[in-house]
Amino acid sequence: MSAATTPSVESAARGAKSSAAIGFLSSSPKKLLIGGKWVPSKSGKTFETINPANEQVLALIAEGDKADVDEAVKAARKAFEEGKWSSITPHQRTRYLLKIAELIEQNGDELAELETLDNGKPLSQARAIDINGSAGIFRYFAGWSTKIYGDTNPSDPSTFNFTLREPVGVCGLITPWNFPLMMAAQKIAPALACGNTVILKPAEQTPLTALRLGELIQEAGIPDGVVNIVTGFGPGAGSAISEHPDIDKVSFTGSTEVGKMILAASTSNLKRVSLELGGKSPNIIFPDADLSQAIPNAMSGVFFNSGQVCVAGTRIFVQQEMYDNFLDQFGKAAERMTVGDGLDPKTRLGPLVSKEQFDRVKGYLALGRKEGARATIGGEAIEGKGYFVKPTLFADVNNSMRIAREEIFGPVAAAIPFKDETDAVLQGNDTTYGLAAAVWTKDISRAIKVARALKAGTVWVNCYGLADTSMPFGGYKQSGFGRENGKYAIDLFTQIKSVYVKL
Ligand code: ADP
Repeated sequence: MSAATTPSVESAARGAKSSAAIGFLSSSPKKLLIGGKWVPSKSGKTFETINPANEQVLALIAEGDKADVDEAVKAARKAFEEGKWSSITPHQRTRYLLKIAELIEQNGDELAELETLDNGKPLSQARAIDINGSAGIFRYFAGWSTKIYGDTNPSDPSTFNFTLREPVGVCGLITPWNFPLMMAAQKIAPALACGNTVILKPAEQTPLTALRLGELIQEAGIPDGVVNIVTGFGPGAGSAISEHPDIDKVSFTGSTEVGKMILAASTSNLKRVSLELGGKSPNIIFPDADLSQAIPNAMSGVFFNSGQVCVAGTRIFVQQEMYDNFLDQFGKAAERMTVGDGLDPKTRLGPLVSKEQFDRVKGYLALGRKEGARATIGGEAIEGKGYFVKPTLFADVNNSMRIAREEIFGPVAAAIPFKDETDAVLQGNDTTYGLAAAVWTKDISRAIKVARALKAGTVWVNCYGLADTSMPFGGYKQSGFGRENGKYAIDLFTQIKSVYVKL
């Protein structure tokens, strides 16, 4: 878009309630953070970020591409090689990361509002989960800076052998739009804790909180060039990162399709890659489950964040004899969910993030009916402005239908009957994905047997969606590889050097 069509400041801040959020949105177009300076894209191009609840433009965003990524990589490389970050003491890095956590909390209301405006999610959830969660992630990894050890190895008496755990170098971090700030935190915090420098490319649909985080990172005093932020599109800025010969590692969260492209591009310089990709997670409910827990959790498992969650429990497997009862109870509870603007405190289900996602989900609603599934609730979009879809439960689904095999990323559940434990596990595992799974039963032996048998990076027993930064997170099969969070993230962002000393 050219400057001639730039929306006015008033329209740019449209929809925001707090003066902090209005102020942030008013300084549009937003710029790129490169080498400690906020700069326009070299091409001068910008793109719009849209409020999905009312389809209005929130702000213009600099459209970075290869030329801007090149600059960001130069800045990150310089900061890395000069040791501005990697060679300060681990204690100093801890203090910086704690400061970022503190600043996120202090500016939490503004960040939550920006997240809701940009992504659509209910404000209370943005505040409690995305923003507090992001502060928690920085705080957790702040502790790791001082706990990254090498080993002293068993050595021949004539040598002394040890290992050093060193930062990987310049890291490209490509994040999705479903948890914009939290996904950025989940990558930036461990990368910085380990001494790396980074280039963040937030999703084009939701760049606002990453840009605000950039300001907070500067306020925390992180040296220039350590964190660079290049907004832009996947095929422009994103692919420039995955192809770049001077980026040492890419950490990506997004679709399996793009994950494959990133892996292919990484061969240019054999950069390290970690991929957290899609899912089609089975949520298996046995008849002895506590339904007062299983039903609300199955609902939040698939409708939380309007179903735009990689671990969403979209395939709900229910044993045959309780199938009709489940449909009835789930349907009644789900129909009570209030769909609306995330800024309205009554809202439980916000809009989908973008027109593209809205059209995609509507396409799957039509496909489900065509495949012979029956929408017991929902099954359609809501008329009017905004990308709203009714919470939907498809019954009479079998696991070979496309709605049971492809990631929809919307508030769409598929209920699939099963015969017995063996059948549940077979069907549950019959997917190209393997990100998460859940099992509901009071029989502890069955719970553990099923948890072992499910091919998924995370299995929940009698719960759904619990997350703890100290627990590894990642996928089996085409849900990706590498584990984020916990000590596993330290493995992703360090490399090991063997040192032999002749005595
Ligand atoms: P979704 O399909 O859910 O929108 P994507 O996988 O397309 O998720 O996007 C996740 C992130 O990957 C975004 O930041 C997006 O810009 C980026 N991206 C998309 N295409 C590419 C690409 N070809 N190379 C690198 N990054 C990309």
